[in-house]
Amino acid sequence: MSSPSNPDCSPAPPAPSGWPRLRRLLLNLVDPLALYRPRATGTVEAATAALAGKGVRFVQRIYRLRVIGLGVGFFCVAAGFLQHPVPWPLWLLLAAHGYVWPHVARHWALRSVIPYRAERRNLVIDAAFGGFWIAALQGNLVPSAVIISILSMDNIAAGGLRLFLRGLYASILACALGWWLLGAHFLPQSDLTTILACLPMMALYPLALGQSTYLMSKKLAERSRQFEIVSQLDGLTLLFNRRYWESLLMEEFERRHRQPSGQTQTFLLLLDLDYFKSINDTWGHLVGDEVLRNFARLLRSRLREQDWIGRYGGEEFGVILRDMHPTDALALAQGLVEAARLHNDINNLYGCTVSGGLVPFSPDMEAHFVWLQRADHAMYCAKESGRDRLVVWHPGLERAAGSPNQAPPPCCV
Ligand code: GH3
Ligand code: MG
Ligand code: MG
Repeated sequence: MSSPSNPDCSPAPPAPSGWPRLRRLLLNLVDPLALYRPRATGTVEAATAALAGKGVRFVQRIYRLRVIGLGVGFFCVAAGFLQHPVPWPLWLLLAAHGYVWPHVARHWALRSVIPYRAERRNLVIDAAFGGFWIAALQGNLVPSAVIISILSMDNIAAGGLRLFLRGLYASILACALGWWLLGAHFLPQSDLTTILACLPMMALYPLALGQSTYLMSKKLAERSRQFEIVSQLDGLTLLFNRRYWESLLMEEFERRHRQPSGQTQTFLLLLDLDYFKSINDTWGHLVGDEVLRNFARLLRSRLREQDWIGRYGGEEFGVILRDMHPTDALALAQGLVEAARLHNDINNLYGCTVSGGLVPFSPDMEAHFVWLQRADHAMYCAKESGRDRLVVWHPGLERAAGSPNQAPPPCCV
């Protein structure tokens, strides 16, 4: 099947890294035009469709910085113009650049198909303006240095080395053009007024850029924290999902191996709803989902903060009962099985009971999955012996499973 945006469905080639990336950047230095060629990211239509509408927040962020930077930067260049007078059209252009261009740039970027890309183009235009002002200032050293450093800071912060290089080339070109058009001389000396007029720009702009970068990184950190939490949870029950829960089990397994067990112990409890399929068959999947959520709620209400509860499979749940006395762990697990039976209506379990297998940590287990296998085995023993009950694992269970002629041991608690 083909999609309208990517007719041949070919995946975009991965971005180069390591030496190929470095080589490409070095080549860009000697071939400026390479920076303006689109990168090979599948078809142009596919890339455009994927990026359409992207970068609105980026545009707003740059807009605020541009209003501050060009608004204050006006005085820096104006002082240089007072030191070495220039014709009035340049004053007009400077005022337009300082106070009209930020709004035009924002409007232009927001109306583009890909605001992000348009804003990067605007940043290159900023760099070109900067180069032109250096020519108009006839190389006046302090304002020229301020312009170069602010532009470099902006471009590298917004688009890395690639945007920085594009800006640099645009600045050099515009500076050369301006020098030629204005017939400028090289007058690098800055008087005190020019230096003083540049101070607010030197102090204010890095502050604004720093604050904006800090806020952005704070937002990113918060978002990645949220993503991390979501990636650990099961969407239906909001318990830990299997992958994360198993990683916790591995962690606990390692901890228990390192620390000699004292008075308390860690227990693994596997629970499986009995005849759950019949709930789906009788009431439908939505009711089945509700039963799963209600059972998860029951687990949360009866277990402690430090117990890690996960959805192990469809209607199977795993609990890691940490640092408990064996009698308490047994009472807690038994209480769960009984609560599902005795308070079935209150918990809206639609008559569903639960079978469980409980296994204490034991140093003879070589890996965490042995712990899981034992819990699984105990749980199936509970199923075999009639369901709606708890079985505590003991070595006799496995011996019974290993010899088919032997009668099953009394495994139910
Ligand atoms: P047993 O007592 O032997 O455990 O029987 P059972 O019916 O509970 O077990 P079985 O493995 O036969 O069926 C489990 C069912 O759980 C099958 C599957 O359709 C259902 N199931 C798995 N995940 C979900 C889910 O997310 N939502 C719903 N509604 N049903 C699910
Ligand atoms: Mg079941
Ligand atoms: Mg099952």
